[in-house]
This record gives sequence, C-alpha cells and structure tokens, in this order.
Amino acid sequence: MQHEFTIQVSPEIAANPEQLKNDVARKNGIPIDDIKHIKIVKRSIDARQRNIKVNLKLNVYVQEEYIYRPIELPDYPDVSNAPEIVIIGAGPAGLFSALQCVELGYKPIVIERGKDVRNRRRDLKAINQDHIVNEDSNYCFGEGGAGTYSDGKLYTRSKKRGDVQRILKLLVGFGATDQILVEAHPHIGTNKLPNIIAAIREKIIAQGGEIHFETRVTDFEIKSSKIHGVTLLNGDKIATNRVILATGHSARDIFELLYHKNIEIEAKPFALGVRVEHSQKLIDQIQYKCEDRGPYLPPSPYSIVKQVDGRGMYSFCMCPGGVIAACATSPGEVVTNGWSPSKRDQPTSNSGIVVELREEDFKPFSKYGPLAGMYFQKSIEQKAWSVGGETQRVPAQRLIDLVEGRVSSDLPETSYAPGLTSADMGMVFPKFIHSTLKEGFKAFGDSMKGYLTNEAVVHAPESRTSSPIRIPRDWQTLEHTQIKGLYPCGEGAGYAGGIISAAIDGEKCAIACVRSIEKKN
Ligand code: FAD
Repeated sequence: MQHEFTIQVSPEIAANPEQLKNDVARKNGIPIDDIKHIKIVKRSIDARQRNIKVNLKLNVYVQEEYIYRPIELPDYPDVSNAPEIVIIGAGPAGLFSALQCVELGYKPIVIERGKDVRNRRRDLKAINQDHIVNEDSNYCFGEGGAGTYSDGKLYTRSKKRGDVQRILKLLVGFGATDQILVEAHPHIGTNKLPNIIAAIREKIIAQGGEIHFETRVTDFEIKSSKIHGVTLLNGDKIATNRVILATGHSARDIFELLYHKNIEIEAKPFALGVRVEHSQKLIDQIQYKCEDRGPYLPPSPYSIVKQVDGRGMYSFCMCPGGVIAACATSPGEVVTNGWSPSKRDQPTSNSGIVVELREEDFKPFSKYGPLAGMYFQKSIEQKAWSVGGETQRVPAQRLIDLVEGRVSSDLPETSYAPGLTSADMGMVFPKFIHSTLKEGFKAFGDSMKGYLTNEAVVHAPESRTSSPIRIPRDWQTLEHTQIKGLYPCGEGAGYAGGIISAAIDGEKCAIACVRSIEKKN
C-alpha cells in the first residue's frame, strides 16, 4: 500500500534515508520492517526560524515493493517529409517549439545565428580571457540561447504560465536529474545544461527536423500583411508562410528590423541595475542564522524586494555558489549576469539587484519611438564599457563605498573573469538609478543583517533582465497582430521571463501554428 505523508524534519534526517525511515515509522506508528521504500515527492527548506526544517512530501510504500519507472520521452514521429515550420532562434523557446512541432508531426527548420554548444565554448573563453565579443556566439547567442551557460534555475514566478511539470519532465527525459521534479526551487547548473541541450538537438535531427547553426536571419519577406519568407545574412532566402520568431531579448537587430519595416512593436518596461557579489559563507550565515551551514544544507539563496520613493528595487536571478558572467553581445558594451555549477560550490554568491524602470524613464531616447527603452539600456552598457576602460572589465565599487558615495581605493577578488575597474556608480547610471541603489542597499542592510558590507562588490551593469520590447500578438491565434503567419515567441517578444516560461511559450506557439495549418486544410 502507498501512503502519502507531509512531514517536517531536520536537514540531517532529510539527507539520510535510514534516519528518515525511522522517523516516518515512529511518527506514524508503522512497523519499520513494513516500510519497503520512501519516495520524496517534494522538498523545500524552511529557514525562517533559527531551527531550520525541511518540508517533505513523501510516498511511503508499506508492505509493497517500489518499482522504479524512468521518465519517458513522448513517442516522437519521423517528420522528414512532413510540412515545415521555420523557427528563428534555438533558445529554450525555439528548441521547445521545435520539439513540440515534431511531437505534432511537423518538421521544424530551426535557424540559429550562433554555434552549437561545444563550439560556443571557445567564444566564451575569448570574452573572458581576451575581451573579444563575437556578435553571433556569446553567453546569449548560440545553441540553447541564453539558457545554456545560464544558472539553470527552473522556476517561474508566475504559476499561470502553463504546464511547468511537463517541461521539467522533458528535461529529465533529455538527461537532467529527476531531482528537479522534487525540489521546490529546482536548478540544473551550467556544467550540466550543454549536454541536455545537445540531446534535444540530436532528437530533433534524428526525427527529421533541421537545425542550421551560424545562420543569421536578416530580413523578413512580407506581402499583403502575410509572411512569405526569411532572408539570411549570406543572401539566401527561405520561402515559408509560418515563422516562429524566438530570437530572445538581446536580438537588437531583429527589433530594429521590425521597427524599420513598420511592423508593430511596443516599448516595454523592464529593470536594470548592478550585480552584487558576496561571499557565500556570509549569505549562509545571514539566511541560516548560524556560523556554518554544515553538511546538510545547500548554499543559501536570498530574495529581497524594497520600495525606494515608490520605485521597486529587487534581487533578480540570484546565484548561490556561483560566478558572474560577461554577457555582452556586441563589442563596445559590457553586461553582467550570473551562473552556478550544479553543486553550487563556488565560494561566492551573486545576484542582480535591479531598479524598476518605467516608460517615462526612456524619454531622453524618445526619438527612437518604441525602441527608446532598448537605446536607454544600450547607452548604459556602452557607458559602463567606457568607464570600465574599454575592455570587458566592468566598473565596480565596494557596497558601503557605493552607499556612501566614495570610489573604492581597492577591490577584493571577483569571480567575474575579465576583471574590474574601480569606479563611482554615478559615472555609469542616471541619477535616479544611482540614488535608488544607494537607498535600496541601505534598506537591504536593515533587513538582512551583515548584507551591507564593504567586502561585497557591485559590478555594473545588470541590464538584460527582460525584453525592452513587446512584439504584439493576437491572444488567441498567437500570430502577430498585423502579420499573418508570424508568431512572436518567448522572452524577446515579451511573453516569457526565464528558461521554463520561454519553453512553455515555445510549445504554445508551435501548437497555435499547427492548429492554424490544420484549420486551413
Ligand atoms: P534566448 O535564450 O535569448 O534565445 C534566443 C536565440 O535566438 C539565441 O540563441 C540567439 O542566438 C538566436 N537569435 C537571435 N537573433 C537571431 C537571428 N537574427 N537569426 C537567428 N538566430 C537568432 N533563466 C532562468 O530561468 N533561470 C536561470 O537560472 C537563468 N540564468 C541565466 C544566466 C545567464 C548568464 C543568462 C544570460 C540568462 C539566464 N537566464 C535564466 C535567462 C534565460 O536564459 C532566458 O530567459 C531564456 O534563455 C530565454 O529564452 P528564449 O528562447 O526566449 O531566448
């Protein structure tokens, strides 16, 4: 017989199957020998009190043997000769769109400007070591998109976005640990993601789909408000009347292209700020309220939000035991973000700390119409490049020095490989962002004792939090409001924020596209 229990235990018991079995038997009056297996279904940590607890949802097999059933992938058909759907971008949105097309019996043709996961590595090394940014292959562009060398946190703020569990199960089917189905805050890690992405690619190709790397789309062919094809950088044209556009939030040339072709796009508010690095030990001490987190607790994350003069300032994409990454997509700019390995075993933690922006903040760039926010974002990234010394070094300041308006006389070691230049954040940001950061960090220090320390360093800027543009689409057909057959998709189009929601939106667009083809036939 299977029994479902929800229990709260110490981190040590949660980590030790024999101790857990004893605990379950004792608390529920079950003879210990009758318990054949305990399957943890959900796990979360409650660190609100000094006495930290782990909440577990369990399936307990009493006098019944447990049979392990691996997660299986859908039975994907051969689509070699099936009708084609063109997908631009091989990020989570594009790849899950492609998988969904295959599952529904259609042949995806994926066009990706960057390289495959393995060849992408060389370009990441070039950014980190030689300060060279390849515009087609970097932390944002290439197979798996911005999701590949990311942190791989797999939770989404909005539960309304769709079937999260389905995406997690597909990831397990393609090689992710099944623990992502159990953890309340699942995480894969940068070292594991590339193999999972490569397995997805291999499946798409094995079933007859196509993926074209190092192939950049530069134009759309549109006649009578319908898509008729796409043009590639080498001048080749692909005729098609269905295009899923999943080019991500950093595809500025695509936003420019749409604008200059009079295809409707809208400015969208986003958030921007810095990436702050603390020692992981300090964050553990603050969050777990103890000297040392010991062997049973994971490196602690944190999440914090404050209002400063009516403007939100909050932590974003926090990476425990992680590293700050150089995420520029063009020469002449610097951008930070963060990642962590699966074990989160780096000595540092980092988090984006960003200030909420509104459309009126983009006024100085209003001549760019709906691209105003994008130009605002770009201007800060270029300013930071210039202040940082015109390499991939970023402007940086110790945290108390930032709050007290002092340039740091020296800087501690950083995980950010290209290095730091000591600078006043007032040189990088407009006054309203700079003053919000100063006040906001003080308020963070009041809530998290020890957080406001000069051993922590801010790195500027964290600017690619979400898309500065929305590409409008019909809420039912998911086609662009003006252009038939064009499906704006994923984070770049403003319909996702993160790996899971981008993957969900990718599937949704593929389903909408297939539905429209089948309606016509
Ligand atoms: P993208 O992933 O941006 O993919 C778009 C793809 O389109 C790219 O591969 C690009 O090369 C391609 N493309 C662009 N223009 C063209 C063109 N003209 N022709 C052909 N191809 C083109 N999210 C999380 O949920 N959890 C995390 O822990 C996390 N950590 C992150 C860490 C880092 C360092 C970064 C950079 C991002 C992180 N993110 C994280 C964000 C996450 O990666 C994105 O939200 C997600 O990848 C968006 O998916 P997407 O498919 O919509 O777009």
